Amino acid sequence: MSRVYNFCAGPAALPTAVLEKASAEMLDWNGMGLSVMEMSHRSDEYVSIAQKAEQDLRDLLHIPSNYKVLFMQGGATAQFAMIPLNLLGDKKSADYINTGQWSAKAIKEASRYCDVKVVASSEDKNFSYAPTQSDLNLNPDAAYVHYTPNETIGGVAFDYIPETGDVPLVADFSSSILSEELDVSKFGMIYAGAQKNIGPAGLCIVIIREDLLGDARTETPTSMNYKVAADNDSMYNTPPTYSWYLAGLVFEWLKQQGGVKGIAVINDRKASKLYKYIDQSDFYANPVAVNNRSKMNVPFTLKNSDLDKAFLQGADKAGLLNLKGHRSVGGMRASIYNAVPEEAVDALIAYMDEFANSNS
Ligand SMILES: *Cc1c(COP(=O)(O)O)cnc(C)c1O
Repeated sequence: MSRVYNFCAGPAALPTAVLEKASAEMLDWNGMGLSVMEMSHRSDEYVSIAQKAEQDLRDLLHIPSNYKVLFMQGGATAQFAMIPLNLLGDKKSADYINTGQWSAKAIKEASRYCDVKVVASSEDKNFSYAPTQSDLNLNPDAAYVHYTPNETIGGVAFDYIPETGDVPLVADFSSSILSEELDVSKFGMIYAGAQKNIGPAGLCIVIIREDLLGDARTETPTSMNYKVAADNDSMYNTPPTYSWYLAGLVFEWLKQQGGVKGIAVINDRKASKLYKYIDQSDFYANPVAVNNRSKMNVPFTLKNSDLDKAFLQGADKAGLLNLKGHRSVGGMRASIYNAVPEEAVDALIAYMDEFANSNS
C-alpha cells in the first residue's frame, strides 16, 4: 500500500494513524462484533463514543461550560440558512463581512431571511486581504455579525477577532478550526463543516453560547433548530454516526500531537516555509496581503499559466495530489491542514523548485 501526499481543499487528508485505527475497528468495534456504522445511535456503546468525541473537542478548544457543542448535518452550507433562522429573533438585520466566495455564499443565503448589511468588503482588491477592525461599519441593532476567518478558496485569513460589543459574533471556521488556539468566549457561535480539519464529510460542528438558543423562527425546520439539537444531545434524529466517530478519532490523534497548541507550531512551520519559498522565487507568486495569508490554504500561481497543466501532471507523478486551484480562480492551491504532514510540504517545495529550474 502506498499513500500519496494529498493537498485537497476538501474533503481533505485524514491522519494515516486515524484511518489505520478505523480500519482495525471496522468489522469489530471493541469486541462487540459489529461496526460502529451498524450500531444504534441510542446504544450505550455509541453514546460513549459520541460523548468522548465531544469531551475531547471541548478539551482541545477549552470550550467554556456555557457553550453547547452540536453535531449537525447539511455541511457548513446548511448553516448559512440555520444561522438567520435561529439567531435573528425579533431583529430584522444582520451584519456580514465579505472576504470572498464563502462569505458571499453565506450572505446570499441569509438575504433570503433578513436584511443583510455588508459592513466591510475586500472586493476592491479582488479579495486579497481582510478588512481591519476600523473598516467595519457595525450596526448596534444587528442580530449578529458573521464573518469567515479563513477563506478556503482565496487563502485569506483574519489576523484578529472582530470586536462586536454586545452583538454576537458568528464565524465560519470550516477550514481553520483546530489549526491554532482560539478564545471561544469571544464568539456567540462557531461552526465548521468537518471535511477539512475534523473528519469525513456529512458532519458539521456548531459551538454556540447557551443564551443564543431558543429564539428560532417558527418556520425553522425541527431538524435545524439549535435548541432542539442541544436538548437532544444532537440526537433528535439519527446523526451521522460514523463521521462523528471518525471525528472523535481525529480529536484523540490531535491530543497526541500536543493538542491545538502543538499542531499550531507545526502548522506555522509548514506555512512559513512554503510562503518563504514562493516569495523568494520569481517563478511562483501569491497575491494575498502578507498578514492575511492563510496557514491552511496556500494559493499560488505560475509566472506562465501555460505551464499549469505540465506542473499538475508532474505533481501527480510525484505523488503530490490535488494541487489545482479552485475552478473559479485557477492557478494552484496547496491545502495544508492539520493532517497534511510536514514532509508533504517539504516534498512539494522540492518539486516546485525542480519544476521551476527545468522550466525557466
Ligand atoms: C468548504 C467550506 C464551506 C462549505 O462546506 P459544505 O460542507 O460543502 O457545505 C463553507 N465555508 C467554508 C469556509 C468552507 O471552507
